[in-house]
Amino acid sequence: MTASLSDDRALVLFSGGQDSTTCLAWALRRFAEVETVGFDYGQRHAVELECRVGIREALLRGTALPGDRLGPDHMIPLEALGRISETALTREVEIATAESGLPTTFVPGRNLVFLTFAAALAYRRGCRHIVLGVCETDYSGYPDCRDDTIKAMQVALNLGLEARLVLHTPLMWRDKAATFALAEEIGGAELLNLVIEQTHTCYLGDRMHRHDWGYGCGTCPACRLRADGFARWTAESKR
Ligand code: ZN
Repeated sequence: MTASLSDDRALVLFSGGQDSTTCLAWALRRFAEVETVGFDYGQRHAVELECRVGIREALLRGTALPGDRLGPDHMIPLEALGRISETALTREVEIATAESGLPTTFVPGRNLVFLTFAAALAYRRGCRHIVLGVCETDYSGYPDCRDDTIKAMQVALNLGLEARLVLHTPLMWRDKAATFALAEEIGGAELLNLVIEQTHTCYLGDRMHRHDWGYGCGTCPACRLRADGFARWTAESKR
């Protein structure tokens, strides 16, 4: 028994952040039918999950990308993941480097859990392709973002599901500057504007302070990475 999966169908892990929005745009260019999946694991700030709705609507309405390829959205509740994680994303813990050497924003095994659920959903929906915005270049110390981790997961999932799923990580070797450049390459100024205005990155859930790179507190590690990437991309594109 092998799963019946369509080469034209893709499932994108979509959080509402810059990276997953760029991956969603990337998938809309490549696949005829694209669905999205999000996970609610009790993030301290649900703002990112709220941004998802607006971004999907903008992509459906917009002219920069074939929005008619965008299919249904799936939201999977994963409260248990939040409950077993003592991290700065789900509890009132300071964002810093923990004794383990990993940042306190690390939710142990998060991407492994996400991928397992995404694969089960892709299997049901007949999607051969799964797209996720993990990246090893701007390495924040998250071992489940590494290329080898994702490749090992693809092997494990295909064995465990008796399937031939393909995991795509278009951002794996791009830094944040290159991710801004990719958004412009895929969807021009319209997509770039969408990324800046509507995607959310800030660990503190700040949607009050507007910078040239978008909204956020400007000082948490996620904001700093995004601001630095935007500055480098701007400098490079002016050259
Ligand atoms: Zn921030």
